Amino acid sequence: MADHLRKYETLFTLTPQRMRMIVEAFKEYLELGLEKPKQTVPMIPTFVFGWPSGEEKGDYLAVDLGGTNLRVCLVTLQGDGKFEITQSKYRLTEEQKQEDGQKLFDFCAESLKSFIDNSLMESGQMKDGQKLPLGFTFSYPCSQQRIDHGILIRWTKGFGAANTEGEDVAAMFHSTLEKYQLPVELTALINDTTGTLIASHYVNPQTKIACIFGTGCNAAYMEHVKDIPKMKELNIDENADMAINCEWGAFDSDEHEHLPRTKYDIIVDETSNKPGEQAFEKLISGRYLGEILRLVICELIDEGVLFLGQNTYKLENPYAFDTAFLSLMESDPTDELLMIIGIFSHFFAVETTLAERQFFRALAKLIGRRAARLSACGIAAIVSKMGYLDEGCSVGADGSLYNKYPGFADRIHEGLVDIFGERGRNITTYHAEDGSGVGSAIIAAMTKKRK
Ligand code: ADP
Repeated sequence: MADHLRKYETLFTLTPQRMRMIVEAFKEYLELGLEKPKQTVPMIPTFVFGWPSGEEKGDYLAVDLGGTNLRVCLVTLQGDGKFEITQSKYRLTEEQKQEDGQKLFDFCAESLKSFIDNSLMESGQMKDGQKLPLGFTFSYPCSQQRIDHGILIRWTKGFGAANTEGEDVAAMFHSTLEKYQLPVELTALINDTTGTLIASHYVNPQTKIACIFGTGCNAAYMEHVKDIPKMKELNIDENADMAINCEWGAFDSDEHEHLPRTKYDIIVDETSNKPGEQAFEKLISGRYLGEILRLVICELIDEGVLFLGQNTYKLENPYAFDTAFLSLMESDPTDELLMIIGIFSHFFAVETTLAERQFFRALAKLIGRRAARLSACGIAAIVSKMGYLDEGCSVGADGSLYNKYPGFADRIHEGLVDIFGERGRNITTYHAEDGSGVGSAIIAAMTKKRK
């Protein structure tokens, strides 16, 4: 397997020099997105003005439509950077992601209703006749002109619900909330990345950037309104700051080829429900890493290198290989790699040799490391654009990939040193506060204060 591994090492390894080139290109995309509408990296103004004071207080509801789950929460902000949260989670089915958008929002409202009726009313956390502000965390690229409005630009993360792209999702959700007569006031439509930025700053004011590495991948940061040329005609106070939702997953989704894509990445793209979109995200996020590894394995099966004489049909199903398997493979502590034996025999009904298992583990490492180093390029682009390198800053990061993939954060930090040299150590990522729940509540509170 050693020869094969060398080939994949060459394909999946990013040199520091290549990373610096990516950072330079990335910066240009960020600037362009701020300058004009409808750019590859859309740099969406969020209408969240400035940082929270840390003193925001009160009870807020949040609905979070994530890539995998729907979550409803009650957040009690206590001021002084403190909060409490009560929540329920509902798994989204693949059908729900594809059916009519209004039905998807109906499901959100039904889940919120059952949370209020069965959990909050029962426990006395909410009382009859009480109406609470609601933040709706909707983590798909939307263009906003106000905080309680947002036109869905396009679905990402495998969603494709009909009659939703090009529509005002806040209005759609609002009408559903009315239909179910819920005691809430939809105050803010936010993106989880923006929420993570605000929630992380609420508890750690060193935070300047937030990133999500989950089903998808995205970042947000605080920009000076005077440096957002495309907002000039809105006549917003030039001294104000506004959070920008970069939607950086779209970086390089155009005719330029800044990213070193392998043929497996190209297959992932071409067979996805959105070919040509989210080029950066497809090399990084949890939805795709397992699939990249599966495609390499399938190629070696076709070449007669792996699993000769065994039935490999289970491995041939697209997306059969979850990114969580890469985590498990990398963290297998046994010499025999028993965890990897288990994954392949239990989930895919194939036997593996020790040499093959070592190869799979090495391959997972290459794919996981490339994802982390590309993430470092994105962070470096924002750091460099905003001039944060010398004074340093914290980056709040969230999502299963960041939280559960062994060594993901260390690899980002190594990548930052490869890009910036020793000064790269001034930038540190940490596990962020719950952006889509707490962040949404803080933004709802900040919005109430502004009104
Ligand atoms: P979301 O982004 O949908 O809100 P998550 O942050 O949990 O939710 O991300 C889900 C993604 O993370 C899925 O694509 C899944 O494959 C991946 N994932 C789940 N568990 C792990 C793990 N242990 N290691 C790496 N990736 C994981």
